[in-house]
Amino acid sequence: MKIDRKKCVGCANCSPVCPMGAIYIDENGFAEINEEACVECHTCYRGLSVESLPPWPVRYIRRLLAAVNLRFQPELDICPTGAFAPNELSWPRTIRRAFSDPQVPHESTNLAGRGTAEAKTNDVTNRIKEGEAGFVVELGRPGVGVYFKEVDRVTQKLAEMGVAFEKENPVTHLMNDPDNGRIREDVFGEKVLSCIIESKIRLNKVPDILGAIKELAPSLDTVVSIGVSTRCDISGDDPLREILQDLGYDAWRAKINLGMGRYAEPISNTEEEKS
Ligand code: SF4
Ligand code: SF4
Repeated sequence: MKIDRKKCVGCANCSPVCPMGAIYIDENGFAEINEEACVECHTCYRGLSVESLPPWPVRYIRRLLAAVNLRFQPELDICPTGAFAPNELSWPRTIRRAFSDPQVPHESTNLAGRGTAEAKTNDVTNRIKEGEAGFVVELGRPGVGVYFKEVDRVTQKLAEMGVAFEKENPVTHLMNDPDNGRIREDVFGEKVLSCIIESKIRLNKVPDILGAIKELAPSLDTVVSIGVSTRCDISGDDPLREILQDLGYDAWRAKINLGMGRYAEPISNTEEEKS
């Protein structure tokens, strides 16, 4: 994202709108964007209404009023001169927008936002089968963000633990080889608002995975949230809660898919599939 200095009048309305704190007013009184901190989420561009006031008269009036301790301040949700100008992005910077702008679908999955339905649609997709645990490891949040070099450290650790990465997930699409979890190096320097690593493993491995992430998390330059899911058996029970409680976590069912969707593939609970 860029700000057209010829148009900016330095009202600072845009600064609090940015979820990464990337917009500041420079020493000359113009809004500037810290390109390294900007994740190309377009919140500033979309979030402010635009008025097309002429910049020079607005600046003149602001200075004149400032001289007598008064000021002309536009409504807080307005960029009075329409000074924002989206960049023509090229690879690998395009990835910032793909992961950070909720209105842009990921090319790999055609889904917007973080680009995955996670386990929320498991009643339809059957990604996580009985006896399996699905993990969503979310890295980064607004105000913090995450670089892909940090994501790579987590995906490699998970690969070492033997997880299977979800194919319909944009982070998996950035791996050179999902067997070793290595993210392609040309995106290491790209920062995004947040991203979700999705994987699954047998339920008995849940303690190992949680332990490994807990050990790694303090050394990561971001924040980590984890969601674990499983498929209930025919009577509605699941062994996951007990596993988590044994590990000392307060476990409760945060979301339940009621199975009212249309199955995309037949669900089989044969002994062969469970093994
Ligand atoms: S809202 Fe527009 S005019 Fe005001 S400081 Fe930001 S870019 Fe400049
Ligand atoms: S595109 Fe997003 S991160 Fe970049 S300056 Fe605008 S609001 Fe901030």
